[in-house]
Amino acid sequence: AAKRRQHSGWRLYSEETMRQDREAAALREDLLRAVDADQLRVLYQPIVALATGALVAVEALVRWHHPTRGVVPPAEFIPVAEELGVIDDIGAWVLEQASRQVRRWQERLSPGRTLHLSVNFSAHQLRRPALAAEVLETLRRTGLDPRDLVLEITESALVDDDSAVPQLHELRGHGVRVALDDFGTGYSSLRYLTRLPVDILKLDRCFVAELNGDPEGSAVAEAVIRLGQILHLDTVAEGIEDPAQATELTLLGCRNAQGFHFARPLPPEALTALLEQTTPVHLPTGHPVYP
Ligand code: C2E
Ligand code: MG
Ligand code: MG
Ligand code: MG
Repeated sequence: AAKRRQHSGWRLYSEETMRQDREAAALREDLLRAVDADQLRVLYQPIVALATGALVAVEALVRWHHPTRGVVPPAEFIPVAEELGVIDDIGAWVLEQASRQVRRWQERLSPGRTLHLSVNFSAHQLRRPALAAEVLETLRRTGLDPRDLVLEITESALVDDDSAVPQLHELRGHGVRVALDDFGTGYSSLRYLTRLPVDILKLDRCFVAELNGDPEGSAVAEAVIRLGQILHLDTVAEGIEDPAQATELTLLGCRNAQGFHFARPLPPEALTALLEQTTPVHLPTGHPVYP
C-alpha cells in the first residue's frame, strides 16, 4: 500500500509539474504579444522632496493587464520578459509612453515647478549597442528634455557586464541621469561605486524598514546618505510607509523619498489630479502626504 501511495503521489506531482509547465509556456506566449495587444499600462509613483513635500518626480512602473489572469505584477513577468528578450520592446514602450505623459504634465505645471521621470532599465536593455541612440531618439520624438530623465538600473546590471558603461556616459553627456536602484542590496556596492557613471543612489526599502529611532536601525541608511553626500550623489529613499520613517530620513539628510506613505503607484488620471493640487496635504507631523 505504501508503494502504491508513493506511486500515486509521484503521478500527482508529475501532473502538477506538467500543468505548471503548460501554464508557464502559455504565459510566455501571451507575454510575447502583450505590447501589440495593448495589454501593458504604466503607473506613476510620486517621488517627493523631503524638505518641502513637493512632488518632484515620478517613477514609471509597468503593469500587465492579462485578459484572463487580471493584473500581473512586474516581479512576475519582468524576469520572464528578460529571458525571452521582449523586455527590450516592453522597455522601449514604457519609455515612450512615460516620456509623452510626463511632457504633457510638464506643460500644465505652474511656472517654477519641475517634474522629472524615472524609468527602470533592465540588464538586457543595457546590452543593446544602440541603447543611447534609441533613448535620445525617443526623447526627441516625445519632447522630453534629457535632463528630466533618470535611468534606474541595478548595480548588478552594470557590474555583470560593463559594456553599458560607454552608453551611460553618452546619455549623461546629454544630461540624462543614472540612478542605482535598490542600492545596498547588491554584492559589490562600494567596490565599484566611484567608477560607475552614477548620479543618484536609491536606498533600498529594506534599510528604510529597519529605521526604528535606534542607531543600529539607521546605520545603513545613514552610511548610504553620507556616502551620497561625499560623492556628490543625490539620494532617494524607497519604501517609506510611515511618517516616522520620513522624519528620520529627513534628519539623516536624505533629500528625496518615495513610498506608500506619500503615494502608491497611480494611474495617469490620478496623478493629473494630484499635480493640480497647489499644495500637498499635510500630516500632523508636518510631513506632506499625497492621497
Ligand atoms: P523598483 O524599481 O525598485 O520599484 C519600486 C517598487 O517598490 C515598486 O514595485 C513599488 O510599487 C514598490 N513600492 C513603492 N513604495 C513602496 C512602499 O512604501 N512599500 C512597499 N512594500 N513597496 C513599495 P512594483 O511596481 O511591483 O515593481 C517591482 C519591480 O519591477 C521594480 O522595482 C522594478 O525593478 C521592476 N519594474 C517595474 N516596472 C518596470 C519597467 O518598466 N521596466 C523594468 N525593466 N523593470 C520594471
Ligand atoms: Mg526603480
Ligand atoms: Mg527600487
Ligand atoms: Mg526595488
